[in-house]
Amino acid sequence: MVKDAYGWMQRSLNTIHQANWYRSVTPIASLPGPIITVNGREMLNFASNDYLGLAGDKRLIEAAMNATREWGTGTTGSRLLTGHRELHRQLELAIANLKNTEDAIVFSSGYLANIGTISALVNQRDIILSDEYNHSSLKMGAKLSGATVFNYPHSDINHLTNLLKNHRHQHRRGLIITDTLFSMDGDLSPLPQLVELAQEFDSMLLVDEAHATGVFGKNGAGCVEYFHLTGTPLLQMGTLSKALGSLGGYVAGSATAIDFLRNRAPSWIYTTGLTPADTAAALTAIQIVQQEPQRRAKLWENVATIQAKLKNIDNSENPNFSGFTSFTSPILCYPLKNAAIALQVAQKLQQQGIFAPAIRPPTVTTSRLRISLMATHEPEHIDKFIEFIMAI
Ligand SMILES: *Cc1c(COP(=O)(O)O)cnc(C)c1O
Repeated sequence: MVKDAYGWMQRSLNTIHQANWYRSVTPIASLPGPIITVNGREMLNFASNDYLGLAGDKRLIEAAMNATREWGTGTTGSRLLTGHRELHRQLELAIANLKNTEDAIVFSSGYLANIGTISALVNQRDIILSDEYNHSSLKMGAKLSGATVFNYPHSDINHLTNLLKNHRHQHRRGLIITDTLFSMDGDLSPLPQLVELAQEFDSMLLVDEAHATGVFGKNGAGCVEYFHLTGTPLLQMGTLSKALGSLGGYVAGSATAIDFLRNRAPSWIYTTGLTPADTAAALTAIQIVQQEPQRRAKLWENVATIQAKLKNIDNSENPNFSGFTSFTSPILCYPLKNAAIALQVAQKLQQQGIFAPAIRPPTVTTSRLRISLMATHEPEHIDKFIEFIMAI
């Protein structure tokens, strides 16, 4: 009998369907912005990570087109061979300037930045302490590194302290890894305490500022700046693909740390350099972050507006409603009972012209609606969202 070595895939997909975990893609047929075209229809967009509304900004588009005309579409090789342009260095220096660090290194994505950095910093002889809500790329990097990994309960400093007390001394290097603004919950990690613990237990600290860069801090540098920890010895990674509206990732830190990564991070050494278009767009975005603090102010105005309005909703009779998370950030989370209900709510909103995704396992343990705000949302967009959420 001939066996089908691939038959398990369909069976696995069937299981995914049954659990309401099945995923598929939806094409967006317009420029990014607060109003997008989905399935031939205009919708209000509450699903994007484009917090400052830069992904469709004329200046970024122009910079990307000019860079493509001047240097071509691809960089043709790894940064250490033919893939390095002066533009990459300008971007790295601009990131270091924004973050107030000695240097920075640009990867081809944030995911690659995390997996390459973590696997360069630690190996089998070392220990990693990781928040259980961390992004997939941090978790995957930890796994790839071969280090002993302990996941601590979300932002639980006592638990983390005990883990360090009990296990740190059995390993050579220690590394604590955490998102700063958690992408699916919209809350902040207790960064000041983490910095103290890292120092007390002679460990490195790698913070993921993917959602915080351009959003938090007086100058938009992220949560490290927000918590007045600029200059503290830690490693900051982030992405060029969220508030910066482009594509790519980075790590910012001491000159020594960055020089080390250039020599040891496999996902930087063995991959093709970022395209001129992405590089130029990100560089322009950083200039805008630094020169137009009013965009950040507008985003935070929107956060205050939606929070004030959500407070007034009385949905106590509604069995699906357990309230929005009350953290102060552009990411709002609306927990729902299960994946099926999350899908229903997201579909209902879509019928009303509101695009906000249901986030389900395995991305998160509890299903939810995730709302993200942009600087380019207008008060009437927020009003419309509130009107529909009240009717759920
Ligand atoms: C999006 C994200 C990444 C990955 O960044 P990409 O540039 O999209 O690969 C890493 N960490 C966190 C917390 C993220 O949200």
